[in-house]
Amino acid sequence: AGPPPPTIRHDQDRLLGGLLSPAFDEQSCRSRYASSLYRRPSPFRPSTYLVERLRRYEARHRRCGPGAPLFKDAVEPLRSGRNAARSECQYVVWTPINGLGNRMLSLASTFSTLGHGRALPSACSAQWIGLVITVHTNTFLYALLTDRVLLVHAPHEFDGLFCEPFPGSSWALPAGFPITDFAGVFTMGSPTSYKNMRQAGAVSGDHRNVTADSLPAFVFLDLIQSFTDAAFCESDQRVLAKFNWVVVKSDVYFAAMFFLMPAYERELARLFPEKEAVFHHLARYLFHPSDDVWAIVRRYYGAYLARADERVGLQVRVFPEMPVPFENMYGQILRCSEQEPGLLPKVARKGGAAANHSSAAVASSGSRSNKLTSILVTSLFSDYYERIRGVYYANPTETGEFVEVHQPSHEREQRTEARAHNQRALAEMYLLSFCDRIVTTAVSTFGYVAHGLAGVRPWVLLRPPTPEAPVDPACVRSRTVEPCLQAPPRRMCGVAEGSDIGALVPYARHCEDEHKGLKLF
Ligand code: GDP
Repeated sequence: AGPPPPTIRHDQDRLLGGLLSPAFDEQSCRSRYASSLYRRPSPFRPSTYLVERLRRYEARHRRCGPGAPLFKDAVEPLRSGRNAARSECQYVVWTPINGLGNRMLSLASTFSTLGHGRALPSACSAQWIGLVITVHTNTFLYALLTDRVLLVHAPHEFDGLFCEPFPGSSWALPAGFPITDFAGVFTMGSPTSYKNMRQAGAVSGDHRNVTADSLPAFVFLDLIQSFTDAAFCESDQRVLAKFNWVVVKSDVYFAAMFFLMPAYERELARLFPEKEAVFHHLARYLFHPSDDVWAIVRRYYGAYLARADERVGLQVRVFPEMPVPFENMYGQILRCSEQEPGLLPKVARKGGAAANHSSAAVASSGSRSNKLTSILVTSLFSDYYERIRGVYYANPTETGEFVEVHQPSHEREQRTEARAHNQRALAEMYLLSFCDRIVTTAVSTFGYVAHGLAGVRPWVLLRPPTPEAPVDPACVRSRTVEPCLQAPPRRMCGVAEGSDIGALVPYARHCEDEHKGLKLF
């Protein structure tokens, strides 16, 4: 006997309005058709055009993906080093940032030696699952827009996390793929980087001067932090279109950039009439926890969350480079809940009328209200959970409702290399995404993924300028479900220097959690 079934039942079809292909065997990945049963119905529906494009994408992936004869043909030029004239199948390979901690630290120091005053919001810390999912999602959008097949250069940390997203094929680069040393080849200074090729004059920014078979066999698109400048001019996109293999490495949610490019405007309007739901749809389409991760999610949900009438998620991320002291962060959470009535169940004031009323009511009927609210805390540390649980243990709520507080794990440290650690982190993002209201920490991709999958606009605990500085307001409600592109390019093509990137199109604005950033809504 497994855990009890979810209490939220609704009629939303199990294919998420056609987003998911019906072609999979249910047993091959238990979460694929089941996870939506654990959430309230999505407020967003995928457009019929998006559904049609996904089915076309899947057909292309089957035709061109690993194992297909066309794949073999496409790989050959990688051995010879020369790009073939435009071939039927083109690819984009996503490769994660390995050893990000060191990489970002060195990047940060390069910036400071250059006297570049730019803040690197979530740099300097090893990041993983949240970042992997956000970056991967925009690489898939790039594949959709440019008719490429998305392949994944998965490091071993990736094993056992996700199910295959495309029916009848695989997204993993197969064994024997000619490029092996990804970490060595795809570096900032690499001659294969598009930006470096342009600077060295190896490719011209004018696509008319570039013939496909004069190009190297692949190009590296380095979209790390502010290096996003490199790729989002239309002329760049036209040159890039001639490469059959593009390898992308990034640590930002660059999807928003495509929405600033006139060339993709019409297509994107048809794919995503609701721009707020780009990540929501694509992440729900792509990311299905493996059976092992799903087992953790179901067990935990059944034991701790299933009976609740309302679920509130509270994600507290304390970044190593911004070590906000416990009392400050806890105080910020309290002020946020005072400032936003209805966010967390209110505790009755000691000796106040409500407190007397509740105790009398509890004595006579057990409770004035049988409502049960579950607060799910996710954090690397247990202090927040302990303090909040203690408050609800010692005090009645104003309404008399019951509150339970849970935290699945408190790992203390990020361990990107450990499979079980990553599985728990992914499980927790999923559990958060089952919540009705979600409070997240500013600039955390872990939080972005949770509310993005949920389709919920979060309350964001704002980031102080320094670890001990006060923050006012403590939190704001996000205007959108979309993640923030935290580091947009400093320069935009065809736009006057110094223009405000948040004012270029009516559907992209600066982010609440990173003012320089950009998000769709
Ligand atoms: P970000 O750094 O907040 O943008 O999110 P990432 O997911 O990219 O990186 C943070 C990593 O730290 C996660 O992948 C986990 O390994 C770990 N981590 C952070 N917060 C939590 C948490 O609440 N629960 C668990 N299990 N792991 C966490």
